[in-house]
Amino acid sequence: MIKVEDLHRHFGGFRAVDGASLTIETGSITGLIGPNGAGKSTLFNVIAGVLPPTSGRVIMDGQDITGLPPHQLFHKGLLRTFQLAHEFASMTVRENLMMVPGQQTGETIWNTWFQRGRIEREEAELRRKADEVLDFLTISHLTHEKAGNLSGGQKKLLELGRTMMVDAKIVFLDEVGAGVNRTLLGTIADAILRLNRERGYTFCVIEHDMDFIGKLCDPVIVMAEGKVLAKGSAADIMQNEEVIEAYLGT
Ligand code: ADP
Ligand code: MG
Repeated sequence: MIKVEDLHRHFGGFRAVDGASLTIETGSITGLIGPNGAGKSTLFNVIAGVLPPTSGRVIMDGQDITGLPPHQLFHKGLLRTFQLAHEFASMTVRENLMMVPGQQTGETIWNTWFQRGRIEREEAELRRKADEVLDFLTISHLTHEKAGNLSGGQKKLLELGRTMMVDAKIVFLDEVGAGVNRTLLGTIADAILRLNRERGYTFCVIEHDMDFIGKLCDPVIVMAEGKVLAKGSAADIMQNEEVIEAYLGT
């Protein structure tokens, strides 16, 4: 689905991503691991259109998507989750989900006046979809909770839920388990697996928890110093001497 070719992203003289090449196969849950500062998040940001690359290409389904802005990638079904924006903290969980599609009618006075019926139908549809997402993620009890009151793990689930409001094909998750308790981490892992199996989502997941990676991801790609060091099953990766050395070296 995704092919990254000799990608570079430099910050001044510093090569955060330094000639990374990799593929993400359709239908996989691909893990991306590596020591801190390896360039994982920068790579995600370039793929997701948040940062322009210094050089190199990103191909999605055979089409060059290098440097496309996030909203265009969004319409192609490529999403990167972000931490919940501040302004949404005072809205409920359901309202947060309903905000995502972003292309509702009703932005102008004219629309509001002439298309009231249509807007109401669209809202009802969004509400239905939001409730379905909350049900899927087993957090229906949080429907009316203010997003700002959620725990770290619940926020991660909400982030994942937002990808379900559009028809995502591939979702990039950056440290989805960071600061999340074991129980919720299990719920998040379940949701990722079910989205993969039941909805055909492809995932690329950055995560430090090797237990989580081992259970969820195949293949696993290892990055170090801006480059891809190895790719293979979690079991193979953990025995790879170059990989062990890269971790020990930091
Ligand atoms: P990882 O996610 O693997 O821990 P990052 O991609 O966040 O690594 O960062 C890789 C390197 O690039 C780090 O050394 C970081 O300090 C540097 N870096 C990341 N973003 C910037 C930036 N906006 N400006 C300067 N340096 C950056
Ligand atoms: Mg990072």
